[in-house]
Order: sequence, then C-alpha cells, then structure tokens
Amino acid sequence: MRDAERPDTAYLPPMLTDRQAWAAFEARDRSFDGRLFVAVSTTRIYCRPSCPARRPKRENVAFFGQESDAREAGYRPCLRCRPDAVARDAEAVRKAVALLEAAAEPLSLTTLAAAVGYAPHHFQRLFTRDLGVSPAAYARALRARRTEQTLEEEASVTEAIYEAGYAAPSRFYSDAGERLGMTPSAWRDGGRGVTIRWAVVPSSLGPLLVAATDKGICRLTFDEDEGALRRRFPNADLRPADAAMTSLIGDVLRAVEAPAAMPDLPLDVVGTAFQQAVWAELRKIPPGETRSYAQIAAAVGQPGAVRAVGTANGSNPVAVLVPCHRVIRSDGSLGGYAGGLDRKRKLLDAETTGGQGTLNLPI
Ligand SMILES: [Zn+2]
Repeated sequence: MRDAERPDTAYLPPMLTDRQAWAAFEARDRSFDGRLFVAVSTTRIYCRPSCPARRPKRENVAFFGQESDAREAGYRPCLRCRPDAVARDAEAVRKAVALLEAAAEPLSLTTLAAAVGYAPHHFQRLFTRDLGVSPAAYARALRARRTEQTLEEEASVTEAIYEAGYAAPSRFYSDAGERLGMTPSAWRDGGRGVTIRWAVVPSSLGPLLVAATDKGICRLTFDEDEGALRRRFPNADLRPADAAMTSLIGDVLRAVEAPAAMPDLPLDVVGTAFQQAVWAELRKIPPGETRSYAQIAAAVGQPGAVRAVGTANGSNPVAVLVPCHRVIRSDGSLGGYAGGLDRKRKLLDAETTGGQGTLNLPI
C-alpha cells in the first residue's frame, strides 16, 4: 500500500480531527464541502463529504484539506458530486478573503466578485454559504480587528478609527459586536509565527491540556497531549508553560471545577465567521442553563442551520470556557460531547448545584 492510499490525517485542516472528518462524511455534512475532500483508495476517486454515493469502509478512506493534495496523491474527482467544482468555489472564497484582508479601502461586492471571476449575486451566496456572513459583514469584522490592534499601539482612539478605514467614528461602535478578534491567516497556517505555551494538568474530570498564546487561551481539551497540540499547530513555536502562565492555569482549573463561578478568561481562538458566531452565542448561556441546537441556530440568525451548529459546537477548541456542554438536544437528551458524555453530565450537574457541590477543588 502506498502512503497516499492509507487513511491519513496529515492533510487535514488544523481545526479538524480525523474523527470529526469521518463524522462529517458519515453525516453527509454539506458545511464541510470545499474544506474537506474524501478519497477512496479502492476506486481512486475523491468526493465532497456530502456526496450521495454509498459510504466505503473506513479503512479505505483518506482525508484531504486541499483538493490539490487529493489530485497529487493520484485520485480523480467524482463525477457525481463534482468536488472539483466545489473546490473552485472554495478557492474563490479563499482568494476573496485574502483580498479583503489586504485591502486598505472597503471593496464593493462587484469588484470583489469580478476579481475572483464570479457574478456578484452568485458569489455573495457562495461566500455567505461558506463563511456564514456576507463579504460586507466579513470586511467590517476585519476592520474591527484592525482597529483593535491599532488601538493597542495608538494613543488616540479617533486616529485609530480613521486609520482602520472607517468613514466616521460612529461606524466603529456599531461594528463592535462583529469583531472576529483573530488572526485568520496564522491560524489557518497551523500557527505559523505564533508562540504557544502549554501544560497538561490534572483535574477532577481528568487530564486537561491548557495551551495559550500571549493573547489568550487557544486550546483547552480533555485527554490531549503535546502530540495532539502539535498536529493542530504544526508550524507554531510550542513551549512548555512558564511561571508567568501559572496563574492562568489556576484560573482555568477553577473554571473547570466551579463553572458557575467562571472567571472571564482571555481566549485566542479562530474559526469561520459562522463558528465564531456560534461560540459567541454559547458564551452567553448562563451557568446552570442549557439551550438546544435549534435555539442556538435561531440566535445566530440561521434557524435552518441546526446541524451546522452541532458541527461548530463540536469543533469548539476551548472546552468549558466556551460552554458547548450547555447545548443539548431539543428533546432534553444530552447529544454529543467531544470530551465524552460522562464529562458533559458532570459539568452540567456541577453547574446546577452551584458549581461547588460535586467537584473538589485541587488547588
Ligand atoms: Zn462523489
């Protein structure tokens, strides 16, 4: 068997585990089309995750984050689901995002669509389907992030606002709720140029991986080790936690042990605009309360996107602090949890009893 024919996670985008990729493929999850390509070693064909064709055996499947990687590994595009067409669309969206990130002045939809070779309305639909927000909203969020960065360097708030390309200061304040608070390029590039400090610490819910940039916590997961962190951020400078990180780790442990009294800890996480919207909505759920996937979908303005909310929930990189455990099924059953259902139940129990009753503080 050649390397390319073996099931492999090496080509996956940093936000996706092999398990999530297989789950998306099994569920024919459309929201992964263009970001994930599924190759079948027995037929030498690759598909979109949503391909209607019969599912092959797990051991015959390899995942790719880039269409070109699937081609280079010797696979041909499926004629039924046309993954090459969706890859062209995704490439156009990626290119548009790069243009928006590089633009000093706001770009019109017509200019943007023409630059990537699509008709404006068609491209608006593509972009929104892919990222959950329109190009205009994405550009506003980017400008808000730039403002935030400039604010750190500039003494004058007004100057910072004008430098970030706003017509008038009032626009800045109206955009404040849409901030992405992220550096999408570095994140997409496996953390290139970023220093991440990490530790695995014991908690009453099991070993907890805490990883942080100097801006905030970028990963908080159960049962993960340095190897898992390196697979998510292959290009980051990973270093063991230092003394300066001790108090942050203490706060994280307190939040895990007593979620009802959760301190407001800084996060540094990046997702698609849709994921960001879902995660922001999760952070609004008070401890001791739960919401359904459908309620979160409605809250982010996409009532039809219940399954995509479930996926965004599952790809939350910061357990507990982005409380995805507070989302349950409409019928009241727990649904899934990346850290295991037992932990989800314990976290919810601890919150409803005030966060102190069932768990012991180790610190
Ligand atoms: Zn197919």
